[in-house]
Amino acid sequence: MQNGVRVRFAPSPTGALHIGGVRTALYNYLFAKKNNGTMVLRVEDTDQARYVEGAEDYILNALEWVGIIPDESPKVGGDFGPYRQSQRKSMYMEYAKKLVDEGNAYYAFDTSEELEAMRERLKAAKVDNPQYNAITRMQMNNSLTLTEEEVKERLDSGVPYVIRLKVPRKEEVRLNDMVRGWVMVHSSAIDDKVLMKSDGMPTYHLANVVDDHLMKITHVIRGEEWLPSAPLHVLLYKFLGWEDSMPQFAHLPLLLKPDGNGKLSKRDGDKLGFPVFPITGEFAGKDGRPETFSGFREAGYLPDAFLNFLAFLGWNPGTEEEIFSMEALTEAFTVERIGKSGTKFDIEKAKWYNQQYLKAKTGEELTSYIKPNLTSDHITYSDEMLSKICDTLKERVTFPQEIWTEGQFFFTTPTSYDEGIVAKKWNETAVSVFSEYIDKISSVEDFNADNAKTLLIEILDERGFKIGLVMQALRIALTGKGSGPDLMDIMEILGKKEVEKRILKAIEVLPLKMES
Ligand code: GLU
Repeated sequence: MQNGVRVRFAPSPTGALHIGGVRTALYNYLFAKKNNGTMVLRVEDTDQARYVEGAEDYILNALEWVGIIPDESPKVGGDFGPYRQSQRKSMYMEYAKKLVDEGNAYYAFDTSEELEAMRERLKAAKVDNPQYNAITRMQMNNSLTLTEEEVKERLDSGVPYVIRLKVPRKEEVRLNDMVRGWVMVHSSAIDDKVLMKSDGMPTYHLANVVDDHLMKITHVIRGEEWLPSAPLHVLLYKFLGWEDSMPQFAHLPLLLKPDGNGKLSKRDGDKLGFPVFPITGEFAGKDGRPETFSGFREAGYLPDAFLNFLAFLGWNPGTEEEIFSMEALTEAFTVERIGKSGTKFDIEKAKWYNQQYLKAKTGEELTSYIKPNLTSDHITYSDEMLSKICDTLKERVTFPQEIWTEGQFFFTTPTSYDEGIVAKKWNETAVSVFSEYIDKISSVEDFNADNAKTLLIEILDERGFKIGLVMQALRIALTGKGSGPDLMDIMEILGKKEVEKRILKAIEVLPLKMES
């Protein structure tokens, strides 16, 4: 049963969704699920100049990859649609007009030259932050300074105009943010924001507030960068007479660069050597050339690991526990445990999460990552073998694609051998032990890790040697490397024929160090 809680994630399709945006979507989703509520995805595409083709699909795909499926969206619809603001265009003017009629907004006809001249004038008068506000509006071309006839004449003649909010000169605007507590702003710090643009489109502020109201949004959970806009939104709710149903706000802490110096930006991904986008993509750039960007998915992050990592960037459960599935997060999530200060982005932690989730998968689940690499040469590799390979390697890698690269020796006989180890460990004793070993294993019916070990120990025991004496030499013969997964497991997977073949090849090609 869904109750009255309704949240929305409201991205603008101006490019790829940065991971900070995915985190905002996630916290909205968790809050909705926790409260048996509804999550709405609303596309805020009123800024036609910044619209990027394909961005909306990218956003939906990215959310789907991590398992965030909105209950209402342009894709699945819902009772409060349309869910793209460009398709709601006709709804906004009514509210802007209401604001004008009730004296809370006004028409402004200033040209860009006039606006520029105003800013210059204020700058010359040493005003730090020149803006269109309660003081300056009276020197401008607007329905507050022109006569009614002049205004009517201009509106009728079709000259371009905007509608601006008439922000009160002296008023304390307050809001009780769920993360930050009471936030108070003096209205003199707010300028007369444009609500309707000259192209007939609403600006973000008007469209956002009108839609949150019409879509019956109860909680606005969004990034801290929107906190400065919140007092303006509070004024709009008040002027539109919607104060009683105003949503509760929760502004999320910023995601900071790894060194804590400033906000993690869209451009940081390439510079810092890790992705800042959920999935890889490409959009047409401003100059028409495609702009590509890399994502966590393609780097080998598992969606549940990425999700767990993201959830902890700004929230914690208040316990030492770190591994949380989406269900567990839904259960544990509370807005009270969202931090106030910015969170440093730590890619090492993301890798740690990936390892934890990789380890928790069965070998069988991981085979899908190596199967695409298999060619007709690998016909003898059964699903069982592939799953054993994944099992032996999963604890040794961070990303699933490394199972293939790290496990190359399972698929091809080594052609090169670690020279340092060969020089130290490959000797007559080893060769004679291995020759006997090949004989012994040839008569074994069911060659496996256990009997592979027992037979080797038997030979060594007879000669009074410790097992450690030849282990590295054997590893070199079988894998070419000085370290790797358990050698007995490797032998079981390779099978006795391949073990025999590789030992014989090593005996043939490796230089023998004479023992003194
Ligand atoms: N369209 C805004 C954005 O791109 C939404 C901000 C909000 O959630 O109010 O982030």
